[in-house]
Parts: sequence; structure tokens; C-alpha cells
Amino acid sequence: MTTTLTSYVQGAWHAGSGDPRTLYNATTEEPMATVSSDGIDFGGVLAHARDVGGPALRGMTFEQRGAMLKALSGALHEHREELLDLSAANAGTTRKDGKFDIDGATGTLAAYAYFAKECGPRTFLSDGDGIQLGRTARFWGQHIYVPKHGAAVHINAFNFPAWNMFEKAACSLLAGVPVIEKPGTATAMVAWRMAQIVVESGLVPEGGWQFIAGSTGDLLDKMGPQDVMAFTGSAWTANKLRSNPNLIQNSVRVNIEADSLNATVLGPDVEPGSESWNLFLRNVVLDMQQKTGQKCTAIRRVLVPQDRMAEVTEQLVAMLGEIVTGDPTDRATTMGPLASAAQLRDVREGIGRLAQAGRIVCGGADPVHEKGYFVAPTLLEANSSDEEVFHRDEVFGPVATLLPYSGAAADAAAIVARGEGSLVGSLYSNDTPWVEEAVLGMAPWHGRLWVGSDRMAEQSLPPGMVLPAMVHGGPGRAGGGEELGGVRGILFYMQRTAVQGFKGQVHGCFGKVEEAKAT
Ligand code: NAP
Repeated sequence: MTTTLTSYVQGAWHAGSGDPRTLYNATTEEPMATVSSDGIDFGGVLAHARDVGGPALRGMTFEQRGAMLKALSGALHEHREELLDLSAANAGTTRKDGKFDIDGATGTLAAYAYFAKECGPRTFLSDGDGIQLGRTARFWGQHIYVPKHGAAVHINAFNFPAWNMFEKAACSLLAGVPVIEKPGTATAMVAWRMAQIVVESGLVPEGGWQFIAGSTGDLLDKMGPQDVMAFTGSAWTANKLRSNPNLIQNSVRVNIEADSLNATVLGPDVEPGSESWNLFLRNVVLDMQQKTGQKCTAIRRVLVPQDRMAEVTEQLVAMLGEIVTGDPTDRATTMGPLASAAQLRDVREGIGRLAQAGRIVCGGADPVHEKGYFVAPTLLEANSSDEEVFHRDEVFGPVATLLPYSGAAADAAAIVARGEGSLVGSLYSNDTPWVEEAVLGMAPWHGRLWVGSDRMAEQSLPPGMVLPAMVHGGPGRAGGGEELGGVRGILFYMQRTAVQGFKGQVHGCFGKVEEAKAT
């Protein structure tokens, strides 16, 4: 018996007509659900968001929207066990990996409820201090941010059906902009169930939350100048969507989170067995194992000083050898299958391409179990760090490549830059001048840099973890977008406007809350 995934549009659940797509259990390969969005009036969906959801959300203050996010986080958390089971079946996640996604979603909602306090009891934001523009202070200027009067279309990747949907929704709803959420289809069951919980909770005003299971049809062709689109997925799809003529024609604001060949760099000063050394090894293994390597922030390139290559390889191979693949609901399993048959095919092909320019030191593309979309953790050693394929080909699974370098910070930065833009880079060193040089060399190519050292080893959260308080995104290949980062994350959904006029009005109405009160 398979489930029919429905869309929540214009205030009702809609089952698509036409040929559906099938979703599978990633471990057993049995069909779980079918999905189709045929028959949806996408122009009507946008109008419902703009005309019904937008005014209702804009009528709420940031504090009220923050309270809504907090309540949503609680409502979803109550269904945690059910969601973890769905995630294990449809996406092949172990309990730990499921929590990473689902708790990541509820945690991000709670974090944005907290950030709402910074925004205060208003419906718009003041941006910076007011500025005297005239001969005297009478003629005054102030920048403000107001919510856009459109809809936010969110197109999400398959690998984080929960977190990806709510990291975007949290920002948009706090800004006061209604959302239209579209999850990656292969793993849409968790997102669909969460969408049901949101609707059943009644916490988001009607029109503020719509959900599309399946394809987006002609939605993008109907978007207008006040709408925005935030996309997470492959660079290939991103380029196709961002060149949609209607989006260009209407200057629709677009944010892209795409491919990323994240690098980690072991500093030459890090001694084997030290806290930094062990942290480096643990984080490489974690990124290969967690979510079976299907993480946009996962380490793909491991830069090691030439004279440390043998030791690092030996220790990583030993640690990766302890990973147990199998049924993700079995507590003994430490790495589940990939999420779909398409993923398995892509990862196997990707390993084949990398293996032409390097040596497989563990794992490989061979089948692991009789059923299910399994692949072994696979580490390669590059013949040379110059090989293009290691810097271009993001194999979206438990796969990483060891690349030798001289140990000089400038050399590491130059090799890392060959990835042409990444979400996150990590480096390990206790040598502060080396760190400074490496950070300044790598920063233009990254949205985020993570510096490991003996002093923070005990307290650190791993580099692959996206935190709501810090920005997420990256230049170039990573899409050129930026999400999250506390209150920064809501600005994408708002218009910045410079207001100029008599200080009594401009400053009194639009200055920072505490200053305006004093006027
Ligand atoms: P994808 O194939 O590009 O799909 C991404 C989303 O786009 C899915 O929801 C997909 O829907 C939708 N889509 C595809 N064609 C479309 C079209 N013509 N019109 C509208 N929507 C369309 O990527 P994926 O396989 O889901 O995700 C893996 C990729 O995402 C990896 O390359 C990874 O690096 C990247 N990623 C990046 C981040 C980040 O934050 N930067 C995070 C996660 C993943 P269907 O599923 O229905 O096809």
C-alpha cells in the first residue's frame, strides 16, 4: 500500500492527476508513495500567497511572528519519533542522521524565534543610524527594510527534507513573507508530513504556508517583481532556473545554494596524536559518514602536508573501516544507504571518474548489500593535486580525496581556490600567523571558514554543521548565495528603502526603536 503525497495549495489539499512519480524505501527498494502536482493552478497559488497570506503576516509584528515560529518548532517536535521513522525509511537515515535533519529544522525555527527579539515590536526594520543630509539636522535620512509584498518560492534539495525547508521558511515567515515550499521529490515524505503538521497546527495564517509535492509546473513563469525564489540543489538545475526569462524580466530576487567541493587543510605544525590532529581525523570521517556523505557542507578534498600523507591515510583508512553499513533502523548500523537509486548511480559513476586520476585506498564503487542504495565509504589518494577532476566533480556521497601540498599556507589557499567557490573550508593549526595567512587566502572563495586548534577542540561543533547564527552559502560554484546568519537571513525577503525628509517624521517614525521613542 503506497501513500499519495498531496500538495497544500489555496487552502486545500490537492492530489495531482496524471502520471505520478514513485518514492522508494532506500533500504528495501520497495515503493512507499506516489506524487504528482498535475492540475495545480500555479498562478492561483502565487495569488493566494500574495493576496491572503502576505497581508496577514505583515499585520503581525516581528515579536508575534517569532512567537509563531517558536510554537511551530514545538508542534513539529511533538512528532519527532514519527518523523525519524519516515526519514529512516524514505531517506535511509540512521537515527543520528535523521535527528541532524529534523532537530536541525526545529532548532532553526527556535533560533529565529529568538532572533525576532532583536527586531522588536515592529513590522519593519531600521537599517543603521539616521544620517543628517541638510545644512541642519532638519533634513534627515534613514534606511529601512520592509517585507516584500510577494511570495517566497523555496525549491529544496533531497538531502535535507526537513532542515532545508525550515531554514528557509523561518527566515521568510519572520520577515513577513508567505512561503511556497517545494521539497526534493525523492525524499519528500518527511517534508510532506511536516507540511501537514504545520497546516493542522493552524499557527501560520492562511496563505502564509503552501506546499507543493512534485513538480513546480509553470510556477516560475508566473512569478512577479515582488516575489523571491530561494533554491538549493545542483549547479546544473540552479543555472537552468536562474536563467528563466520571466525571472530575469521581472528582476525576481534569487538566492542559490549549489554544489561545493569543500576542503579541509591540515597545518604543517599539527603533530600526530595531538588534539588538533585527532579532531581533524574525526571531522573528515564524520563528514564522509554522516548522512552517507550527502551533505552540501561535507569535506570532499583533504589537503595534507606531503610528509604526513602516509600517516593520515593509514589512520583514516582504519577509522573508515569501522563504519557499519546496513539497515538504518538497526542500532548497530552507523551509515545508511544513499537516498535513491539515482543517487547510487551518480555516486558510483563519480567514484569511477575520480579513480581515473587517483588511487582508491578504501571503499570503491562495488555493490555493498544485495538490496538498497548502499555504497562503501570511499577514500582516494590523488596522483597530483593538479588533477582537475578533484576540484570540479562533487561526488555527493561518502567520498573524499586526499591531496598532498607543501605545507605553506599560500599553497594550500591556491589549491583550495581551484574548487572555484565553496560553502565551508576548514583548517587545523595552532600557528596563528599560518592561520591568518590561510584564512585571508581562502576567505574570498568561501562563505564560512572554520579553524580547528588544540584550544577549541573540546568545545567545537564540526565544520559541516550549519548554525542559524552564522551565514550559509558560498561564491562561484556554491551558487553565490547566502542564507541564515541571524537577522541577516531575513533581509533577502525584504526591500531596503532610503527614506528622506523632515527629521521629526523620518527619525520619529523610522529611526531605531529606542531613538525614535526619545524623539
Ligand atoms: P537537483 O536535482 O538540482 O534538485 C534540486 C531541487 O530542484 C529539487 O527540489 C528538484 O525537484 C528541483 N528541480 C529540478 N528541476 C527543476 C525544474 N526544472 N524546475 C523547478 N524545480 C526543479 O539537486 P538534488 O539532487 O536535490 O540535490 C543535490 C545537490 O544539491 C548537490 O549537488 C548538492 O551539492 C546540492 N546541495 C547544496 C546545498 C547548499 O546549501 N549549497 C544543500 C544541499 C544540497 P525534484 O526533486 O522534483 O526533481
